[in-house]
Amino acid sequence: MRLEIDWTRCDGHGLCARLLPERIGLDDAGFPVLGDRTVDTDDLAHARRAVSACPRLALRLEQAPSPATR
Ligand code: SF4
Repeated sequence: MRLEIDWTRCDGHGLCARLLPERIGLDDAGFPVLGDRTVDTDDLAHARRAVSACPRLALRLEQAPSPATR
């Protein structure tokens, strides 16, 4: 799975970065900055919690593209 942000929805209050700091930082304006977007099985529960908590439905988990389409 891979983390994605819909920038048309994100309002940058940073809740996702507080819930998933190992993957998401914040820029100077408070908008999320994704590090490694790939979420492995060990991190999936935390990532799902951050996705569920996003008040703007901007943070998503998507299927990572197969190696042939990267
Ligand atoms: S929680 Fe959602 S709306 Fe808030 S900064 Fe993160 S992605 Fe954007």
